[in-house]
Amino acid sequence: MDFLRYADASAGLVNTEIGDVDDLVGHLVGRDWLHEQVTDRDCMLLRKFQRELRPVFEASEADDVRAVVDLLNELMVRHPITPRIADHDGHDLHLHVASKSTSVAELLVGESLLGLATLICDLGPTRLGVCSADRCTDVYVDTSPNQSRRYCSDRCSSRANVAAYRARQKQQLTDESATENTA
Ligand SMILES: [Zn+2]
Ligand SMILES: [Zn+2]
Repeated sequence: MDFLRYADASAGLVNTEIGDVDDLVGHLVGRDWLHEQVTDRDCMLLRKFQRELRPVFEASEADDVRAVVDLLNELMVRHPITPRIADHDGHDLHLHVASKSTSVAELLVGESLLGLATLICDLGPTRLGVCSADRCTDVYVDTSPNQSRRYCSDRCSSRANVAAYRARQKQQLTDESATENTA
């Protein structure tokens, strides 16, 4: 298993609006074989899981290591994971989360938890975050080498940069007019 990819996908899962089956199918890009298995029950279970998983990202954002570990451990008790070693199609041995009888919700929950648990053990528990952009609550996984990520997406990052630039310009104009007034 590529745990970074699974961890990243868990952020994508939290950020996805899962209103109905079509929304969930839209989230499963490149995993066409899962599309026809998606049910309303999967959507309902995943909406519940989104509410359970967000606090993990918030705790990591707040550098609350104890809470990140405790929350993830609790979630793994509530949603037991069955990893399997897979050796299909000439790939190297890797971990899959489940067997054919697993529902789409169980699969995505298992992948999220195994991905995040492996990520925090390998890269550290403060690698998850909530976007710093105004009016954005999306979460992200920070895999940058110097752990410098602050935004969920390039779009939010450039929006925030533009806003900061405008604020500096405005400040500069205010400063200049203040100088003129005192001169
Ligand atoms: Zn595989
Ligand atoms: Zn954002």
